[in-house]
Amino acid sequence: MNTLEIISQPPIPEHLIGEVQSKLAYVDEVICKAQISKDGQKIILEVNRPVDELLRQRVEEKIQRVVTTMTQGSFRPKVQVLEDNMSAPTLNTNDPMPELMQRGELHCEADGIFTLGPLVTRLVEFFEDNFIALAATFDAQPYRFPVLIPARYLERVNYFKAFPHSLTFATHLREDLDAIDHFAQSACCDEHGDLNQLPESFAKIQALLSPAVCYHLYFALADKPLPGGKMIATAVGPCFRYESINLTSLERLWNFTMWELIFVGEKDFVLENREASRKYMAKAFEDIGLAYRVETANDPFFVGEFRKQAAFQSAFQLKYEIRANLPFKNSTLAVGSYNYHQDFFGRHLNITLPDGSPVHTGCTAFGLERMAYAFLSQYGLDIQKWPQTVKDYFGE
Ligand code: ATP
Ligand code: ZN
Repeated sequence: MNTLEIISQPPIPEHLIGEVQSKLAYVDEVICKAQISKDGQKIILEVNRPVDELLRQRVEEKIQRVVTTMTQGSFRPKVQVLEDNMSAPTLNTNDPMPELMQRGELHCEADGIFTLGPLVTRLVEFFEDNFIALAATFDAQPYRFPVLIPARYLERVNYFKAFPHSLTFATHLREDLDAIDHFAQSACCDEHGDLNQLPESFAKIQALLSPAVCYHLYFALADKPLPGGKMIATAVGPCFRYESINLTSLERLWNFTMWELIFVGEKDFVLENREASRKYMAKAFEDIGLAYRVETANDPFFVGEFRKQAAFQSAFQLKYEIRANLPFKNSTLAVGSYNYHQDFFGRHLNITLPDGSPVHTGCTAFGLERMAYAFLSQYGLDIQKWPQTVKDYFGE
């Protein structure tokens, strides 16, 4: 591996190191690993070919652009902690990944793509049961959504501008006998698992793999008045976010499962229900023995959109993240979020209240694989050592 060190001018402020580091993955295809020093001064890159002056200049220029755009004029957001249960007495201090892999409880098909075995699957089902109970207290209407999402839908809600880096596109072969014949005869994967086919074989892109669950509900409600002026729905489904070299273990997947409780209606209706769902889950997490805190946060907007949007979300408390403790690395992982989108979807999709104004929306969302991973990080794989509520579910 070849190393490239870049001095950041000015240094990256501490509160932005994580955000900038996650974007370095998308700077240049030669980058295999990116690390920012604790003081924010040095960016250390591992690259997949020898570094010459031309490469250094190219990468340095792009990195500088990322750093400047994301940090110039930014200020440290005031993080508000709404719940703090970090001191819950957990038992495990090892990363559960090696043992899970070794036991066949996880099988890695490719970066960010994992098969879950029986223990992890049942743990996911346990969390899902808790969320289903949450939805029942809201009398939420059940929905099932497709895995694909039309490009024109995402365009309508500015997704391409906000999160272009994590999109996953779906395509198919062109309806052309020669193209299909050629594919059938010559398609094969190289040693990296890359298909050897040229872009000309594929049709234009009309659909993507869905990056979130609640969007599908908003699209189903688009361009009409919302019957009754309010609704609460629930759905679970696969979501796709391409996170490049940041894809690691069960923490950051390309293909993960999100469970959501979705609120649509007037501002107060959405905010009150978001709050009620948080209170309900605080009790549930206490029963489960999860060490976590809930704090204000922002979405991982792309470089150009980041500063303004992230500051806006923090300032108006649009996103609260549930961050579970990962004792083995002395850090936390977002396992879920309580979101308020204001009237963003109402305006962009023309969903109206009885008085003609746009609806407000919000969602309570949990990543199921991350829930299981955080729990196993805190309690290990031995069911006997798990909190009683979870043991009961497993019949222990
Ligand atoms: P909004 O609707 O406001 O865009 P959302 O419903 O998309 O928000 P997020 O907060 O973006 O919700 O994601 C919800 C949860 O999904 C996260 O807290 C996390 O648990 C899980 N999640 C997100 N990205 C990944 C990933 N790459 N791998 C595994 N889990 C993820
Ligand atoms: Zn959502």
